[in-house]
Amino acid sequence: VTLAELAALKHRRLLMTSEKRIRAVHKVKGVGYPSAQRLAYLRALYGMLEWLEQESGPAFAQLIQEFPSRTDSITSHLSQRLAALREKVETYFTGPRVAWVLSDLAKQIESSTSRAFQEQVGAALGVTGITASSSEQLRALFVHENAKLIRSLPHELVDQVEAAVLRALRQGSTVRQLEREFRDKLALTKRRAQLIARDQVSKYSGKLTRHNQTSAGIEKYRWGTSRDERVRAEHRQLDGQVFSWDKPPMSARNGGRYHPRQGFNCRCDAIPIL
Ligand SMILES: [Zn+2]
Repeated sequence: VTLAELAALKHRRLLMTSEKRIRAVHKVKGVGYPSAQRLAYLRALYGMLEWLEQESGPAFAQLIQEFPSRTDSITSHLSQRLAALREKVETYFTGPRVAWVLSDLAKQIESSTSRAFQEQVGAALGVTGITASSSEQLRALFVHENAKLIRSLPHELVDQVEAAVLRALRQGSTVRQLEREFRDKLALTKRRAQLIARDQVSKYSGKLTRHNQTSAGIEKYRWGTSRDERVRAEHRQLDGQVFSWDKPPMSARNGGRYHPRQGFNCRCDAIPIL
């Protein structure tokens, strides 16, 4: 939406009868959580983790086979064993394919967010066919930050496995205990992937909402929660209040100031004040 478009819309809104206006304002809904994109992200990450499981399986099996016969030079031996895996992981998890997947995902989130924005503005002002502006910079930032997070997943796993072997040696664990620990670490990596997908998709849609609204000259928004039992108490208190895009409200327990969807795992909405 350009400023001129918005000015024209505001003018048109003034011409609406008050009854119509009240009905229109009530029609403004939130942007909605981008669940489809979260699933797409998760599917992509699970594909990568499957590869990781297949690649790391033999390396970990070998570690278990040798355990605990190499107590003397275990530290250097361990790093040698894991070096090859680290190298493979680095290539696979930083390739151009990852950037491509992320950029495609960003575009999907952008189109669903701007579609929702168009519907919000359209519903409030009784018009259709409004265009939302895009931001290359925001997309590049999303790709960069997420590529870094994705890259950290396998490296953390290999580090944790290395630490687990050393700890098992120190504590005199059995092979079975060590095997269980490897499985636990893999499960932990999967959970972290879930958290990344949920949090990052939400954060990006929040950033886009801010971009869409502020570039249309909208200065304020109303905080809207998803109104279910999972909404945190701090955000429930903000529900319905109006804030300025210039000044995020105190919305974290530690006193941090964030706009909707910028705090960890937040699903709240910023409903434009037109
Ligand atoms: Zn929230």
